[in-house]
Amino acid sequence: FPFGRRLPCDIYWHGVSFHDNNIFSGQVNKFPGMMETVRKITLSRAMRTMQDLFPLEYNFYPRSWILPEELPLFMAEVRMMKDSNPSWKPTFIVKPDGGCQGDGIYLIKDPSDIRLTGSIQSRPAVVQEYICKPLLVDKMKFDIRLYVLLKSLEPLEIYIAKDGLSRFCTEPYQEPTLKNLHQVFMHLTNYSLNIHSGNFIHSDSANTGSKRTFSSILCRLSSRGADVKKLWSDIISLVIKTIIALTPELKVYYQSDIPAGKPGPTCFQILGFDILLMKNLKPVLLEVNANPSMRIEHEQELSPGVFENVPSPVDEKVKVAVIRDTLRLVDPQKKKRKDTQMSTTPWCVGGGMRMSSEVLPRPTPCAILCCRCQSSEPEASAAPPSPEAALPSLCLKQVFPKYAKHFSYLRLVDRVAALFIHFLGVKGTTKLGPTGFRTFIRNCKLSNSNFSMAAVDILYIDITRRWNSMGIDHKESGMCLQAFVEAFFCLAQKKYKSLPLHEQVASLIELCECRLAALRGKRLVWGCG
Ligand code: ADP
Repeated sequence: FPFGRRLPCDIYWHGVSFHDNNIFSGQVNKFPGMMETVRKITLSRAMRTMQDLFPLEYNFYPRSWILPEELPLFMAEVRMMKDSNPSWKPTFIVKPDGGCQGDGIYLIKDPSDIRLTGSIQSRPAVVQEYICKPLLVDKMKFDIRLYVLLKSLEPLEIYIAKDGLSRFCTEPYQEPTLKNLHQVFMHLTNYSLNIHSGNFIHSDSANTGSKRTFSSILCRLSSRGADVKKLWSDIISLVIKTIIALTPELKVYYQSDIPAGKPGPTCFQILGFDILLMKNLKPVLLEVNANPSMRIEHEQELSPGVFENVPSPVDEKVKVAVIRDTLRLVDPQKKKRKDTQMSTTPWCVGGGMRMSSEVLPRPTPCAILCCRCQSSEPEASAAPPSPEAALPSLCLKQVFPKYAKHFSYLRLVDRVAALFIHFLGVKGTTKLGPTGFRTFIRNCKLSNSNFSMAAVDILYIDITRRWNSMGIDHKESGMCLQAFVEAFFCLAQKKYKSLPLHEQVASLIELCECRLAALRGKRLVWGCG
């Protein structure tokens, strides 16, 4: 309804962002701030924070540096690593921030090859370790596009589609050398690039051609004896951990656009996860797309300059199921009844394969049944047939809160964000002013003879100035969440010197939460008095 509608809707389906229309009720398919949060630089920063806290758990994201500000750091670190291991011959991939479809991406062998002329100042970028040994199928590099439904932020609810797409390069892969670095059809898996290669194969079959279903790859790997259960388990962990890294920032945007107590819609969003498999089957996160393409047809050039839209059965198979089941999950009429039934919905991957029990718990007997064996809607025999009875079983599998207890220890930055939001004060802002920061220090009793309020002000000014000079968001002045997280880590390191970082941070969070709870208790008593 581009020109508005008098009656409110249950569900709004926006094309680009939360702000496409002003809405005050119902549900909308975009979270505020999602596009900003998954941009290459912001994602890399969020991942870096998690890698600082939990290096092993977050080693699925390639080591990355942000340009231009971390260029000296990038050069120094690479030099150091090369000195300590002279046989290390790395390749790096430079990706412009906010770019998509492979736009502006190039490979380099040495930090000095970064193209500093022209656009780098105006177009910040991420430079990343290039994964040189990807898994190949039919000699080609490919990546996986998986669809993930973030159904709710608070409480966190995540679903993963049981099938995705595999997008293939169109030139046989060779490890990067100075000679082949520029060959995009060999190194970049983007559909939008490879479609222009003469070797691109459109296929109506799910397991041949340049775009296939992920389940067809899994079947192939399984027949070669690969442990696909472990692979699925690793992918689920990767998705949950990535969303855990993104939620703090999303919560700041959320409270700013939909302040607690004010009327507003609730949000859900389909995300596109781009994942590369290494030769040893380890999944690596490439990026997260806030607006994954949901096209189910492709353009075909019939004669020079004459194009026709042709259905793409592989896209249709995967994407229609994702949208249909997203609507089923958020359907307000059925929500209550569904929530109880969904927890028992059977689900499996690629013809009866079970989900891994290596990292995640062994699925319950009903969860390992093949989805084709049962209806997704086990109905009481006396109940009238549900209109959904004719629909296929759900392709979306709940992974959070289902596996929450395996991942909750990672949610430290979420708790730091909760403190940040608590002290933001004025509704509608995303940045903390100096008074808010002082109140945080005072209420949590973090200042003492070794850390005066003057030192608090200096810390605030130093960190805030540095973050604001990186030029991410000039709209508001003050301390952004990442700057607050940096200040918080700094305070934690000061206070709990000898512990590992994640324990220092956890200890300071607990201290702050306790002191704030005590303060709230006192205020309540005073209120009653
Ligand atoms: P874009 O948003 O422009 O598509 P991506 O981050 O998805 O940017 O990168 C484009 C392509 O480059 C990916 O699909 C993948 O084939 C390749 N690629 C990206 N990062 C890496 C990496 N670290 N190692 C190996 N290949 C990569």
